[in-house]
Amino acid sequence: MSNLICPGDYIDKSLARGTDEKVWLGWTEQFRSVLSSGRSRTFDEVAYTLKGKTQLLRITCTPLPKKNAQGAVGGTVLIEDVTQDANMQRQLAEAERLAALGRLAAKVAHELNNPMDGILRYVNLAMRAIEQEKLEKPKEYLAQCREGLMRMMQITSELLEFSRRTRTSLEYVRIEQIIEDAIKSMEPQADALNVRILREYGGNLPAIRSGNLFQVFCNLTKNALDAMPNGGELQVSSRLEGEEAMVVEFQDTGPGFAPEDAESLFEPFFTTRAPGEGTGLGLAICRDILEVYHGRITAGNVPEGGSVFTVLLPLKGNLIANS
Ligand code: ADP
Repeated sequence: MSNLICPGDYIDKSLARGTDEKVWLGWTEQFRSVLSSGRSRTFDEVAYTLKGKTQLLRITCTPLPKKNAQGAVGGTVLIEDVTQDANMQRQLAEAERLAALGRLAAKVAHELNNPMDGILRYVNLAMRAIEQEKLEKPKEYLAQCREGLMRMMQITSELLEFSRRTRTSLEYVRIEQIIEDAIKSMEPQADALNVRILREYGGNLPAIRSGNLFQVFCNLTKNALDAMPNGGELQVSSRLEGEEAMVVEFQDTGPGFAPEDAESLFEPFFTTRAPGEGTGLGLAICRDILEVYHGRITAGNVPEGGSVFTVLLPLKGNLIANS
């Protein structure tokens, strides 16, 4: 790359024309790396502000290769205004999120209805027993009521915890940082269970809208720890999958899950845990959060024992370029 093509902050200044800023930082550097790698790159939803109004751009940098030689003679920068497109995508994502929330609400109502039904029946039985002066019975019925109420409290407290943590952050953060924060918050439990957490972060991943990803990684860490009550290893890794997506994996050395459960794991209220120990909401919530990113989560068992949960996050629409 020669200085003739990108002298100083020339590109930064040119791109800043038509915005409120004097210089648009970082673009000369990005363009240089495109020219030296010889591969074009697209930066999606780059925000710029004109007269106080923020629009979104798609910026494509393409190198022009030298004839019969390595390197580039220069390059092009194509700028498209994708604000409308991006807003439409957001509205669609919001509609999908609301639909998913609606489905979850229906299942929550159903799940709360079962213990409520039981409680009502036991209260009626207790009242009848008191009327008939069978005074040894109400205690037994009240114990059943208490069990039902505890189940309901567990469900509502997990949902409340979720909504409390769901102050969706609009900040762009490196994915390793979000994973680290989640792991750190679970470290005392991991130490107590004698679980070693190993990290393998593929370097240089772009920053991503942190949203509720912290919650996803907390849930996956918690599940891995639950699967290894007698200790083990949790391997957490992140990497780029081509130029399209980021991948984060949580692999543990627990017993894995039954293959016939593979489809059900992400259903709300599916749990194999003992009564009172799990609500079956964790993975369903993870899946809902990732839908907002147009991402997905899959589960598999590894041949050497243990399970692996893989999160795939498309880069398009989720990143800032100059991270
Ligand atoms: P909960 O943990 O309350 O049961 P989740 O939705 O988080 O709810 O998990 C659903 C089910 O998926 C668990 O009950 C368990 O059967 C299975 N599961 C989740 N994570 C793991 C794991 N790391 N290893 C084995 N099974 C798992």
